[in-house]
Amino acid sequence: MRKLLFAGAGVAALVSAGCATTTQEVREAAPSSPPAQTAPAEPAAAAPVENPLLAGWSGPYGGVPPFEKVRVEHFKPALEASIEEYRRELAAIANNPAAPTFENTIAALEDAGRTYDDVTTLYGIWGSSMNGPEFQAIQREMAPRLAAFSDEITQNEKLFQRIEAVYNSPDKAKLTPEQQRLTWLRYTNFVRAGAKLDAGAKKRLVDINQRLASLYTSFSQNVLADEENHAVVLESEADLAGLPDSVRAGAAAGAESRGLKGKWAVTNTRSSMEPFLTYSARRELREKVWRNYVNRGDNGDARDNNQSISEVLALRAERAKLLGYQTHAHWRLENTMAKTPERAMQLMEAVWTPAVARAREEVADMQAIANKEGAKLKIEPWDYRYYAEKVRKAKYDLDQNEVKPYLQLEKLREGMFWVAGELFGFSFTPVSNVPVYHPDVRVWEVKDKASGKHVGLWYFDPYARQGKRSGAWMNAYRNQERFKSEVSTIVSNNSNFVKGAPGEPVLISWSDAETLFHEFGHALHGLNSNVTYPTLSGTAVARDYVEFPSQLLEHWLSTPEVLNTYALHYQTGKPIPSELVAKIEKASNFNQGFGTVEYLSSALVDMKLHLAGSQKIDPDAFERDTLGALGMPKEIVMRHRTPQFGHVFAGDGYSAGYYSYLWSDTLTADAFEAFTEGKGAYDRTVAERLRKNVFSVGNTVDPAEAYRTFRGKDAGIDALMRKRGFPVPGTAQKKPAK
Ligand SMILES: [Zn+2]
Repeated sequence: MRKLLFAGAGVAALVSAGCATTTQEVREAAPSSPPAQTAPAEPAAAAPVENPLLAGWSGPYGGVPPFEKVRVEHFKPALEASIEEYRRELAAIANNPAAPTFENTIAALEDAGRTYDDVTTLYGIWGSSMNGPEFQAIQREMAPRLAAFSDEITQNEKLFQRIEAVYNSPDKAKLTPEQQRLTWLRYTNFVRAGAKLDAGAKKRLVDINQRLASLYTSFSQNVLADEENHAVVLESEADLAGLPDSVRAGAAAGAESRGLKGKWAVTNTRSSMEPFLTYSARRELREKVWRNYVNRGDNGDARDNNQSISEVLALRAERAKLLGYQTHAHWRLENTMAKTPERAMQLMEAVWTPAVARAREEVADMQAIANKEGAKLKIEPWDYRYYAEKVRKAKYDLDQNEVKPYLQLEKLREGMFWVAGELFGFSFTPVSNVPVYHPDVRVWEVKDKASGKHVGLWYFDPYARQGKRSGAWMNAYRNQERFKSEVSTIVSNNSNFVKGAPGEPVLISWSDAETLFHEFGHALHGLNSNVTYPTLSGTAVARDYVEFPSQLLEHWLSTPEVLNTYALHYQTGKPIPSELVAKIEKASNFNQGFGTVEYLSSALVDMKLHLAGSQKIDPDAFERDTLGALGMPKEIVMRHRTPQFGHVFAGDGYSAGYYSYLWSDTLTADAFEAFTEGKGAYDRTVAERLRKNVFSVGNTVDPAEAYRTFRGKDAGIDALMRKRGFPVPGTAQKKPAK
């Protein structure tokens, strides 16, 4: 299958920069065993022919998702019918009397499950962007069934024997490199999912995966409930001390939506917590908001996640052993760029020590300011953001609120389009002839500037609303391919900006602007795709490689070309002053100790939890002991504490994989230096090399090889350390000649 069959929440988890990509995890699908389906309980609910989810995508651009016709009640019958269809298609491949060949087996699989892909794509969009109680009930019911279907495919013995025969055939050498890689990937994924196990082990695997799917679903629903139900309500004007207008307005809106008009509510999400902790002068309220946030999923009540985490870890350890791996981490990392947990740990440990040292310097700077102000306190975790802001002003004379008036969402979007034109030759034209799932969503057609050829569609869903999960992410609705015919891609970018008053431009923060560019980097990865088979297309690459194109694109935000033309004051229309840009530049490494430590402590705990093997784990105790042993600064808390770590416990996707952002950033930092060593950020030759070897190849090439071809060398750690302003280790490789 092409689309991620999320064994749980339906969508990939958030990433460190607040982003996530719903990158497809290439898990196989094929039918076999007797249908485990039960008849739908409702009497003849929506006859399949009338279900718009099953009708195929029609309309312009090779067909578009039928958003205007989708109703929540369509999902269950559509999932069931498309599973049935996929089963029949797979049975035809598995039972083909002809000898197995690449064409009749591996390629045939590429053409199977197309309806299922369409349906699960829309199911994923509703899960992330149009969610509600009615849909959650469907998720709870369907998550284990989708997991079972996935196992049914990988446990189809006849199908696997055919794949194995193609994989082991001497004829494989005659295939194109892309066909060989596809064969390898199909074979490996079946084996990794247990295709070679005996019947007893296979049965146990099915049980484990179904149980995990249910646990993942309840994990995310618990965290969501703690986010929705635990707001801190502010009663009076005095409670708002220090808060800028935008934060006050957000809190007022938060209270109103809770039926508390006239008061203010700090909701229990990152986007509310962070600005409150940054600006609130009321220390005891900062502590309250902070405690509320870091205890999500850890309140000892019905929504507490600790017990299910223990169970998840035990089941994962058992599954890894069944599959022949030392630990869950070893199983997860096998097909990544890092390949082993040891290599990932090595990178994390190399960065951890300098990051902690930097954090200690940051705390000292903050303590000095607090002392000078006569505040009798020792910096605590709920003080970090507040005093960091004061240090930023004192050290760099930079006030975030001074920057914001220049960062208009729509102007920056135009800036991103311009960058995509310079680097990849794309043009963007708004279109209004395709349906959307919400009036806030807008669509652009992407074309090749030189030839005018259609490239794909870009959907943009920028604003927060009820039923949409927090954070930002990219999604591929359809992958580029030219296997049966030319198919163009459809991608989307999603975020949670607060909508302005009608007619007012939406102003965003610098870090939000970085996230905007980040997600657009994922979109460009999809739009540049130029491969034959959909399974290998666009962003369907290893988890620790997929964040490389997106993190790389963040670098273009701060180029003078973008800022001078697109960072315009929303009232005067004047470009951001060069002095202010210089200050932003100078402060670019500011607070990297904090950012790196809060991220890396989460990544290290994630990896260690999954290296611990089958020992029984008490998540709270494990977290405390691990952080103690690491020497975690007591002024910082993990970015995602274990009981709320959706990346890791809302699905398998980022489990033992949160390190991926650092791994990708090593590549990112090194790759951008290819531009700065050349003619700069808009060096056409380097951009073309990047397109050819990275952005267009999807998963048709081993990522380490692809990177080496682009860069002429492997990425060392030096560029990463420079990017974060940490000392470059003397033993690391020398900077190469250009
Ligand atoms: Zn990302």
